[in-house]
Amino acid sequence: MRKDEVSDDLNEGRITADIINTLSITFLGTTSAKPTSTRNHSSLVLRFEDDVWLFDCGEATQHQIRKWGAVKIETINKIFITHTHGDHIFGICPLLASCMKPPIFTTEGVEPRIHIDVTNSQPLEVYGPLGTRAYIRNTLFYTHTVLNGTYVVHELRFPTDPQDGDYTALSRSPYELEGRNIRQVNGIWESIYSDGAVSVSAAPIYHSVPCVGYVVNECLAHSFVDSSNGTLPSEQPQRRGRKLVILGDTHNPSPIVELAVDADVLIHEATNSYLPPEIDPITKPTDTYEMVEARARSRGHSTPQMAGAFAKQVRAKKLVLNHFSSRYPGDDSESTERIMDAIGRLAGEEFGGEVVCARDFLSLDIARTE
Ligand SMILES: [Zn+2]
Repeated sequence: MRKDEVSDDLNEGRITADIINTLSITFLGTTSAKPTSTRNHSSLVLRFEDDVWLFDCGEATQHQIRKWGAVKIETINKIFITHTHGDHIFGICPLLASCMKPPIFTTEGVEPRIHIDVTNSQPLEVYGPLGTRAYIRNTLFYTHTVLNGTYVVHELRFPTDPQDGDYTALSRSPYELEGRNIRQVNGIWESIYSDGAVSVSAAPIYHSVPCVGYVVNECLAHSFVDSSNGTLPSEQPQRRGRKLVILGDTHNPSPIVELAVDADVLIHEATNSYLPPEIDPITKPTDTYEMVEARARSRGHSTPQMAGAFAKQVRAKKLVLNHFSSRYPGDDSESTERIMDAIGRLAGEEFGGEVVCARDFLSLDIARTE
């Protein structure tokens, strides 16, 4: 949804509540660390109206988009990175190169460095923590990547980060517009993006490196002036806006609690699980839940029980687990279903609500809250 469309409608007093009709997410990658034949590295797509946003962009995300086939790669207009671990960002430069692929031409076999007029293009916006901008800029430069469009990187700066500058000595290319360095205020980054239809806020979550969680809020028009007589109509929105919480890797997302309260959908990692050997034959007889949780925490990750407890704490309506250890396939086999059902139950026992275990290409509609 474009901002001007929304405000036009609002100004005419035609919209009371439903700026967005469908709001859906599709998982493109649901594994941690190593890809497998059934799970790719982290990425998910959020779609509403004409907008296509990515959250994380692990290696081969563009391959997953092509396999999925529901959106064209060129339609992606925002990418949100949770942290700069490779399994969450390695795919972004190839994806930018494909999104903005220029016509191929060379002069006597020599590639042009910069010959594309990009002055009027709408930039693809990237959000992420410190290092996101430097990583993209350097990778595109050293791979001689030519784009026929522009992008911009807005960084969420932690209080311990440098608050200004680009964190790289390499200067911007003509394809890169100047991004914002967004400072934390009261422990969060509020409204890093807002267009009248949705707003996005972020907060730090604890992991082994700086990592953030994103909260997407649907905006509703709470009142409007009836243009025929200039009065406020009695009819008010009958529902609240939908809230989607997308966490990066974490062993403790507590700094995002306030933003995440009453999420319609909470997406939380569950990298490591303890399942008894009769469910998961790889489990060693000496393993215990306590050992698995200690190992998960030491690496900045969570178990299903930890995810379930957080979902309960923030009163989420639905919990979606993702970012599973590569030992857990994401196929249709009976053994996989048995294992994933068991992982979902472990989270559900703590949470007390609906739990879904993500797999690659799983799509979920986020239903309106009546
Ligand atoms: Zn990580």
